[in-house]
Amino acid sequence: MADDLLIRLADEIRASKKTIALTGAGISVESGIPDFRSAGGLWSRYDPEEYAHIDGFHRDPVKIWNMLREIIAVIRAAEPNPGHCALAELEEMGYLSSVITQNVDGLHQAAGSRRVIEFHGSNRYLICLRCGYRGETEAFDTDATVPRCPQCDAVLKPDVVFFGEPIPGDAMREAFEEARQADLVLVIGTSAVVFPASSIPSTARDRGARVVEINLEETPLTGRISDYIIQAPAGEALPQVVALLRERLGGEE
Ligand SMILES: [Zn+2]
Repeated sequence: MADDLLIRLADEIRASKKTIALTGAGISVESGIPDFRSAGGLWSRYDPEEYAHIDGFHRDPVKIWNMLREIIAVIRAAEPNPGHCALAELEEMGYLSSVITQNVDGLHQAAGSRRVIEFHGSNRYLICLRCGYRGETEAFDTDATVPRCPQCDAVLKPDVVFFGEPIPGDAMREAFEEARQADLVLVIGTSAVVFPASSIPSTARDRGARVVEINLEETPLTGRISDYIIQAPAGEALPQVVALLRERLGGEE
């Protein structure tokens, strides 16, 4: 791996006044959660126009649960990987202000990250569109049944953003506030092409922030928005960055 770039990143994180991370599907692939858009992925078996659209859910929620239970089963079985853990460690060390994520798997929180801004909601909770009930997914048997609201018996919906639904206002507000204040943005496991995630790196950069990618492949950000790209799995690169930071701290004491 490009060790020079890892050292450079560790030094930049150390010098930064406010670092934020923007994460996407790529960081959770290493935890066994496939990118639904990949070949053979969920969207090749279930048409997202129908199954991931809020209108489809309103039309026939029981049918949509055929797909939802697959997603929830995969997420239930997944555990945070060293990439998630390294971000939690950076926060703990005082080097990371927040994680802004497009993922709905809750793995950042499971790894110990405290400030997680979820753009697309979370599968950890189910909500009732009729009466507003909200409860933990864990409390329901989603494998064998279609979960129903304990208050009004309507079919529950994961608290994730479906197509046709707005991004949660709080998440938008917080994320862009973070982006405006940051002087270093780590873009991890995402090509950041879909709004609003796509606007986070450019918003920060317009105000003078540096942008560093940790992605397996080059993205539309590469060479335009990002200063450089570390082409490696997050689960390998991030723990090395944390180790480099710890080395430097050790040297100061
Ligand atoms: Zn209800």
